[in-house]
Amino acid sequence: MLTDPYNWIEQSLTTIHKADWYRSVQTIQSRSGAIVQLEGRKVINFASNDYLGLAADERLIQAAIAATQEYGTGSTGSRLLSGHRQLHRELENAIASLKQTEDAIVFSSGYLANLGTIAALVGKRDLILADQYNHSSLKNGAILSGAVVVDYAHADVEDLKSQLVQHRQHYRRCLIATDSVFSMDGDFCPLPEILELAEEFSCMVLVDEAHATGVLGATGAGCVEYFGCTGKTLIQVGTLSKALGSLGGYVAGSTALIDFLRNRAPSWIYTTALSPADTAAALAAINIVQQEPKRRTQLHQNLDTLKQLIAQKLPHLKLLPSESPILCISLDSAADALKVGQQLKAAGIFAPAIRPPTVPTSRIRISVMATHELAHLEKLVDVLSAIAR
Ligand code: PMP
Repeated sequence: MLTDPYNWIEQSLTTIHKADWYRSVQTIQSRSGAIVQLEGRKVINFASNDYLGLAADERLIQAAIAATQEYGTGSTGSRLLSGHRQLHRELENAIASLKQTEDAIVFSSGYLANLGTIAALVGKRDLILADQYNHSSLKNGAILSGAVVVDYAHADVEDLKSQLVQHRQHYRRCLIATDSVFSMDGDFCPLPEILELAEEFSCMVLVDEAHATGVLGATGAGCVEYFGCTGKTLIQVGTLSKALGSLGGYVAGSTALIDFLRNRAPSWIYTTALSPADTAAALAAINIVQQEPKRRTQLHQNLDTLKQLIAQKLPHLKLLPSESPILCISLDSAADALKVGQQLKAAGIFAPAIRPPTVPTSRIRISVMATHELAHLEKLVDVLSAIAR
């Protein structure tokens, strides 16, 4: 007797439930913001990547409406067929100007930007050295490329160097790939040291600026700017969906790199171009990032205030080391993380539990926004104090 070939799915779901790893969606019923309506009640939102509060900015909304009126809702094809509009080019120019690179290319998401770029740059005869905590899109891009992948210990330059000494000579090309701000930890990659090693061992460097763009650096260009590495030869990937409040991804770099990706990145060539609305919203967001540095200043002030409040009122809270607006509270188990997430929600705070397999250890992830007010930060710390008691 043959068994039902789909049975295993339900069994897997049972295993996921038993481990407290089951995930489900939570419905937001209002515009993005510091306060949102979550499943019927107003909560203070510490779960959003909308770091600068642009996702509901009237200028982005109006730009999206105007682009939809002019071009319609869908872009109707891939960029190389019927999907390309002048707006895409304007956005790419704006990204290149923000990043101070020769050119840029826009993908339909940050995930697709990483998948397609890594797959285009390296193949079977090549090596990828990857930070062990890299985002899923970097990991899956590495698998898709067919290159040999060697993980180095998180943000550990010594380990990266020893892996290079051991492996580099056996491969044609080598790509070092890393998040710049680690999305589930909030710390930075040691970019200047990585670039030095890349030069010594003749490696390309791909840095994912998803959580840094608009947030770090004097002009909001990201970690590359924060570390003073602007102008160095490297491949900068990022998303339009976090601080830029829209949807889509990009790669910024040299003219040759971008031209090559237009010809070789499968997730750019064979997918429908970004919609007119998303493209126009992202373009409006980049203008705001460049013209309103006070949003970034406010974001960092809020972060400093929250850290001070925690230091005063919750000195024993186990925070993971972070220099970015992502702060994570470490918890002993997935069950504990779920429980604290639910207690926070019951007290009017939205800050999700992040559990394996997304991260190695369970935690509550808090992301600070420029639009949080002092009262929001105080309430978070008061609620955490009550839970700790
Ligand atoms: N890279 C990192 C580090 C991310 O955190 C994310 C989003 N979670 C992505 C890439 C993917 O970006 P997008 O949401 O635009 O697909």
